[in-house]
Amino acid sequence: MVSAKKRILLIATGGTIACKRSDGGLTPVITSHELLSYVPAAKSFCVVHTLQLMNIDSTNMQAEHWIAIAAAVEKNYAKYDGFVITHGTDTMAYTAAALSYLIRNAAKPVIITGAQKPIDMDVTDARTNLLDSLRIASDDRAYGVNIVFDGKLIAGTRGKKERTHSYNAFASINFPYLASVQDDRCIFYIDDKAGLAGDTVFSHELDEKVTL
Ligand code: GLU
Repeated sequence: MVSAKKRILLIATGGTIACKRSDGGLTPVITSHELLSYVPAAKSFCVVHTLQLMNIDSTNMQAEHWIAIAAAVEKNYAKYDGFVITHGTDTMAYTAAALSYLIRNAAKPVIITGAQKPIDMDVTDARTNLLDSLRIASDDRAYGVNIVFDGKLIAGTRGKKERTHSYNAFASINFPYLASVQDDRCIFYIDDKAGLAGDTVFSHELDEKVTL
């Protein structure tokens, strides 16, 4: 039996993955539609629509942006099987944690990814990370808010950026990697979606009077 291709919404927010060189350094200008054009292999397993929500350096990501990302997922939740959010690496772990609480009990995968190098460079991790993310978002075993980076699926509440330059930038703190992607295969180490119960709950507010 041939299963139908998964419908994925690619939500772009900026970061190095979407950068081009300019006189002022790297600037996020590559659109969600252009990002998708760099991973033509995705067409074999999913149908992707794109949404350019913002195009910012993630060091400028604020609570209002987290609310906007969660709202975009909520608005489109019924229409898609999974979501991939492209994002700068510097605050990706914070966004993943915030979205984990703004979008609770999600039976559909909400994957956050980015890259150490822009997607239009000859040598880059961006194309692999984006394709891996679309692959995970299209997998029936995936659910909830998670990071995909360097072939690993990391729980959204456990990710930490540990390396500034290497492709292996993110670690999962005190929790195993949920899965890995090797070429065109997703290998799940924690395959517990069957235990998920209850409806997906979206929150619409965050208290900004919180600091470390
Ligand atoms: N500071 C930038 C950002 O987080 C670049 C880092 C990156 O994306 O790798 O958007």
